Amino acid sequence: MGKKHKFETEAIRTQLERSQFLEHSSPLYLTSSFVFEDAEDMRASFAEEKDRNVYSRYSNPNSSEFIEKVCKMEGAEAGFAFASGMAAVFSTFAALLQSGDHIISARSVFGSTHSLFTNFFPKWNITHSYFKIDALDEIDQLVTPKTKILYAESPTNPGVDVLDLEELGKMAKKHNLILIIDNCFASPYLQQPIKLGADLVIHSGTKLMDGQGRVLAGITVGKADLIDKVYRFSRITGPSLSPFNAWILSKSLETLAVRVDRHCENALKLAQFLEQHEKVNWVKYPFLKSHPKYKVAKKQMKAGGCVVAFEVKGGLDAGRKFFDAIQLLSLSANLGDSRSIITHPASTTHSKLSIAERAAVGITDGSVRISVGLEHIEDIIADISQALG
Ligand SMILES: *Cc1c(COP(=O)(O)O)cnc(C)c1O
Repeated sequence: MGKKHKFETEAIRTQLERSQFLEHSSPLYLTSSFVFEDAEDMRASFAEEKDRNVYSRYSNPNSSEFIEKVCKMEGAEAGFAFASGMAAVFSTFAALLQSGDHIISARSVFGSTHSLFTNFFPKWNITHSYFKIDALDEIDQLVTPKTKILYAESPTNPGVDVLDLEELGKMAKKHNLILIIDNCFASPYLQQPIKLGADLVIHSGTKLMDGQGRVLAGITVGKADLIDKVYRFSRITGPSLSPFNAWILSKSLETLAVRVDRHCENALKLAQFLEQHEKVNWVKYPFLKSHPKYKVAKKQMKAGGCVVAFEVKGGLDAGRKFFDAIQLLSLSANLGDSRSIITHPASTTHSKLSIAERAAVGITDGSVRISVGLEHIEDIIADISQALG
């Protein structure tokens, strides 16, 4: 495909070359290795004189199709696909950093990413500092000669805060840092950080990209020279995405735009309903005017995403009662699924944090996070309404 098409068209029409069978939809290449024509072909392939598949730990046609699609969606030069979002996060940092290097990250990051920074990277003498999400100028004071990477997510989990990606891009440029954005909450359909100054973008494909709660996956896309380092590290250490999951994901991306449009439409309606409700203290959703970063969200996102956070009046007890009364929605830990999912961060994902630590990332005892799915919005609202009652 030479000509550049619109997002939806690329999502559907980016596909592998047809085989001799002239299939309409891309086939599944479940193969661990690929054959060589002769001794010279084998030598040249291993010497990387040829751009071809050798072994599925390095590359596979189904992964390549998935990567090419995400690169087009994000406006990226190159990418590598991983078995999970965390494999993408770990391998990207590990490929780019040396012992002694320093990371500056937003304080509100995915729980496992936080654990990686605090429990594992110190083993290799890689340190980090956190900045408050609403104080980007703190970054100036945190930079050291060893700082290599500036890292953030937006919107954040579970607080649904929004960071100004353009400002982060300027900060990274000013201090010559590699800006990496975890774009999983927005998906490439709502927000493209590379256009705002990011060098690399990471996704957990497990969330909106698959969108149906079936497979784990991750991907890193961005500047070709950085991706080459990520590729060289990963082809040796082996966190690659399976061809089967890549095939599933590439199909899922065909419907990303229509799915995410409906997720966002439903989420905004639910947020507006909750904002009026007498048993709700506050509601946070990027496209509600009451959101502290409403203007930034409007500037950098096409719509508000699938996650709504709110607080039930009456603290932990009222929260528990509310959860026990839920009938339709799933009590689960995933997000971006076609099924609406409700979680209680204080007693589950963030239960190991102290009350003060939870407060620092915006979680109170009554905080609820809903990943709004694709069921009919009237049924979603009816379930939450009866549970609040
Ligand atoms: C889920 C998630 C991850 C990790 O992805 P997995 O596929 O579960 O490994 C990373 N970042 C964010 C923001 C996530 O929501």
